[in-house]
Amino acid sequence: MTQTKIPVDPAFAATAQITAESYARDYAHSIADPNEFWAEKAQRLDWITVPTRIDESNFALDDFRVRWFADGELNVATNCLDRHLATRGDKTAILWEPDEPNEPAQHISYRELHARVGRLANALRKLGIRQGDRVTIYLPMIPEAAVAMLACARIGAIHSVVFGGFSPDSLAGRLADCDSKLVITADEGRRGGKRIPLKANVDEALKRPGTTAVETVLVVRHTGAAVPMQMPRDRWYEAVVEGQPDACAPTAMNAEDPLFILYTSGSTGKPKGVLHTTGGYLLFASYTHACVFDLREDDVYWCTADVGWVTGHSYIVYGPLANGATTVMFEGVPNHPDHSRFWDVIDKHRVTIFYTAPTAIRALMREGAAPVQRTSRASLRLLGTVGEPINPEAWRWYHETVGEKRCPVVDTWWQTETGGILISPLPGATDLKPGSATRPFFGIRPALVDANGAILDGAAEGNLVLLGSWPGQMRTVYGDHARFLDTYFRTYPGSYFTGDGCRRDEDGDYWITGRVDDVINVSGHRIGTAEVESALVAHPKVAEAAVVGFPHDIKGQGIYAYVTLNAGENPSEALRKELIAFVRQEIGAIAGIDHLQWAPGLPKTRSGKIMRRILRKIAENLPDQLGDISTLADPAVVANLVRERRDA
Ligand code: ATP
Ligand code: MG
Repeated sequence: MTQTKIPVDPAFAATAQITAESYARDYAHSIADPNEFWAEKAQRLDWITVPTRIDESNFALDDFRVRWFADGELNVATNCLDRHLATRGDKTAILWEPDEPNEPAQHISYRELHARVGRLANALRKLGIRQGDRVTIYLPMIPEAAVAMLACARIGAIHSVVFGGFSPDSLAGRLADCDSKLVITADEGRRGGKRIPLKANVDEALKRPGTTAVETVLVVRHTGAAVPMQMPRDRWYEAVVEGQPDACAPTAMNAEDPLFILYTSGSTGKPKGVLHTTGGYLLFASYTHACVFDLREDDVYWCTADVGWVTGHSYIVYGPLANGATTVMFEGVPNHPDHSRFWDVIDKHRVTIFYTAPTAIRALMREGAAPVQRTSRASLRLLGTVGEPINPEAWRWYHETVGEKRCPVVDTWWQTETGGILISPLPGATDLKPGSATRPFFGIRPALVDANGAILDGAAEGNLVLLGSWPGQMRTVYGDHARFLDTYFRTYPGSYFTGDGCRRDEDGDYWITGRVDDVINVSGHRIGTAEVESALVAHPKVAEAAVVGFPHDIKGQGIYAYVTLNAGENPSEALRKELIAFVRQEIGAIAGIDHLQWAPGLPKTRSGKIMRRILRKIAENLPDQLGDISTLADPAVVANLVRERRDA
């Protein structure tokens, strides 16, 4: 495929914190002397005890540890709140935009947020929550979600946020896995005009075995729906925080004390309870947030993720608040009340930095340019994406139609496990290439290895590993350290295996090609799913595509494509042939699609990622072997695809 390069915008670079020169110099320093580099960066945080020990990590299995700032002490909540009060007390910390555009938005200042966190933290202590106890947060996208996270952090409780779209069974599994003592929920959630019965789901979940550690359920009154309260277990949130003082003495936490557990989105299998700790995580979240988004004091920053995902943890709550930023929290969805909602919210709040996912961009692109063009978006200066490889076509639409070529696009590659962004352009420093996450962040040493673990040099394609630790790295799988070592450190001894395939081009830029498990081997040629999908999406009638391999007598594996058309387009035999020919022409004869199935919808995780492992089973016609489907957003999508596959 032709590769375009979009050079750094000189006007952007002129005022940017990091330029091409400073990136090159500081990156070299971060690799040559990580201890010196990170000791200096650690000064961004307010420490109770400043660390003298920096990186003590070792990936060798006989002496394994991931450990940063081991003698440092701090509190995450004071770093996100108290230290801003003197200079930013009246600045908006959280700008909350409700599901319904006609309802008022809320501007919560740093002072007010500090007080709300203090009251809840005191209430939690009174309810018997102690340092190290697990608290599950099952809330909609309302300010109380951030308040709850920070209140836990203030008293050293470990939070586990569970996305509000999860079912009672999924919630129960996550409550049981970490023996949660307390749940914070709401009467109901709202998303796109629909109600989600959160409290009823909690009631159901608590009937499941393994959840008996839960002693208390705090219920935020959000929609006002009548919900049964089971005393003394269930308590109204408002009632328990009422009368509590705003001031709450923070617990001094060791840098390596746990901050939170978060279950991965489950694209490849059963979710893992990823454990992050205090010092390294907060430093990495805040520093990457400041650099990748070139953060300025007056920015209005909006990340559209849900707090139930790591993106919401690092880039709605902890990173932005540690940096004293104004962070937008949006309760709704991109298509309610119509497909202009994102852009309307940007205009309403004069958003300057916008960070979303390829799945949302593709869904909006499907509706054409009109819903975008009827808005101004003049306040925007930077765009970002995360979650999946972004197809170059979607990247261009984002850059040209949404950003009108004024705004750099940062394609940020990272994982729940990494805590923060590892590979991404820096907008004032890096030339952009649609579809490439480009360069490693400071301190990050990516490498490509072949199947035997040999490191590949120069332009190459292989499995993406990281050769050393970074402060935001996960420390363990909660309650299952063996699974942690097995999943990430045994495949290529001495390095962290990401599970992703990747290509490095002649310029040294990185292109994530998809999950290693998803790579298709056609007649001995390795084909990344992302490449074929991007070729399909480049066709003007295609909105979204997912590609998997299936057993093929002659080629070993054949290519099976699922295609969703743009709004208003209809499937036909002629179009099927046209698409197959189109992909051959874009990539080459090797990318001959063997089967093309029309897919009105694709199976996705609740965070919007395509679940190719399920599509593989459908392609193989093994619908009874779909595996764990608990993280599937819409099971009906799968049932439809299975039926059509069978009837084909
Ligand atoms: P599980 O680990 O449970 O299977 P998951 O991997 O989807 O679920 P996450 O941690 O949310 O859970 O996702 C991280 C993965 O998302 C990465 O490993 C990568 O495959 C993909 N990803 C994230 N950002 C990007 C990006 N900018 N470009 C390409 N891929 C990305
Ligand atoms: Mg993963």
